Amino acid sequence: MAEDKQATLWVAVIGAGPAGYYTAEALTSGEQDVRVDIIDRLPTPFGLIRAGVAPDHQSIKNVSRRYEATNQRDDVRFVGNLSLGRDITLKELQDLYDVVVLATGAAKDRPLGVEGEDLNGVIGSGAFVGWYNSHPDYKDLDPDLRVASVAVIGNGNVAVDVARILAKTAEEMASSDLAQHAADEIHSSAIKDIYILGRRGSLEAAFTPKELGELNALENCVALVDGTQLPPEDVDAELTGATKKNMVHLRAMAKNSADAKPTRLHIQFYRRPMAIIGEDCVCGIRLEETVVEDGKCVGTGKSEVLPAGLIVPCIGYRSSPLEDVPYDEWRGVYQNEEGLISDGLYCVGWCRRGPTGTIGTNKPDGVGIAAKILEEVTAAGKAGRHGLDAIVEERGLTIVTFQDWKKIEAAEVEAAADGAPRAKFADVDEMVSIADGS
Ligand SMILES: Cc1cc2nc3c(=O)[nH]c(=O)nc-3n(C[C@H](O)[C@H](O)[C@H](O)COP(=O)(O)OP(=O)(O)OC[C@H]3O[C@@H](n4cnc5c(N)ncnc54)[C@H](O)[C@@H]3O)c2cc1C
Repeated sequence: MAEDKQATLWVAVIGAGPAGYYTAEALTSGEQDVRVDIIDRLPTPFGLIRAGVAPDHQSIKNVSRRYEATNQRDDVRFVGNLSLGRDITLKELQDLYDVVVLATGAAKDRPLGVEGEDLNGVIGSGAFVGWYNSHPDYKDLDPDLRVASVAVIGNGNVAVDVARILAKTAEEMASSDLAQHAADEIHSSAIKDIYILGRRGSLEAAFTPKELGELNALENCVALVDGTQLPPEDVDAELTGATKKNMVHLRAMAKNSADAKPTRLHIQFYRRPMAIIGEDCVCGIRLEETVVEDGKCVGTGKSEVLPAGLIVPCIGYRSSPLEDVPYDEWRGVYQNEEGLISDGLYCVGWCRRGPTGTIGTNKPDGVGIAAKILEEVTAAGKAGRHGLDAIVEERGLTIVTFQDWKKIEAAEVEAAADGAPRAKFADVDEMVSIADGS
């Protein structure tokens, strides 16, 4: 009995994003002997903090300092460049660790579900944001920005991010870590008009006021709203919270003049995508006018074609299915009961609850899953990281440790232009060779 109490509980957390780190932190902050390996398919930690959060919103990325502190602990280890499904199977991990926690996020774009969405020039926000944020999967995306008009579909902050990054000048992005390949394309693009299209109205939009307000303070681009799409002004007195603040920004945009600046950002409400138009590549999008009845979006039957050479749907994400893990097709997450998938297998963060909330929302999620694990699982004397290291060696895999990542980070900081925090690498082999000193 006494021996059992002393036994180490070995946990493999798959995914080094916020959910993975909050779970590891909570698992190791009690009395029990718990050792956590945080495994990520990329050689870089921090998930969407690095690859999703906008490159001109550096202060938000500071949360990664907390995850760094977790990595300073002896009982937590980062194992980068190791992919579940490619390098190692779930069964192998379950043989080695008492618990496997999936924290793999939701990286696949949710389809629009309209004709033409496979045309060249329709690029989901997961891919587009990954491209401008140096995600290795999208470094060669090479979107054609020699287009006059771009349609960004969605009324949340990701749509606002995409529109803003396309609209800002090189000077406005100088203190960001925008990927160089993206900066080269964006800052020499032919874009004159950017449309943010929402199916419903301003009162239903999910923008946050700070992000929306930034659109009305761009150097070269004027934000425009058709005042007739906003509710009558006497409604404003009844509004509260974010909706009230958003309305202040939208009313100000409705007063802007279209020729005030060289480029324009149009926020259009009550427009539902019907079809994407084009032969080999996109030339426009058919939109149906809608009304909102009892909070629901209803088509009016009236439609129009908006010319656009690039369409970026920002309408949400799905998790990637994994072998031997039951998948909820409708919600795009792993099937789970409050995080439990099956004995010893859990999920947390976006792959558990879907792509909602802020970075901070993943903290109670991680704390909750950690408490559940500590209550439900007993250490069984498994091999843990020693077993993983043996497999890594046997297969000739190159893993990236946290110390290795710090070398990559130092090289990125050293390569940064004046005023920029870092020049991100996007090539896995390049990062691995920096990590091993070659
Ligand atoms: C474009 C965008 C901008 C955002 N901006 C903000 C913002 O400004 N503020 C805010 O509060 N929130 C923002 N968010 C939300 C925030 O990023 C998420 O809440 C958070 O990242 C979700 O955490 P997660 O750990 O579940 O997933 P992720 O952060 O996606 O982490 C998942 C990790 O799992 C790894 N992984 C996936 N599959 C495997 C595998 N098979 N093997 C090994 N590893 C794997 C991935 O490489 C990744 O590192 C933004 C989201 C997006 C998409």
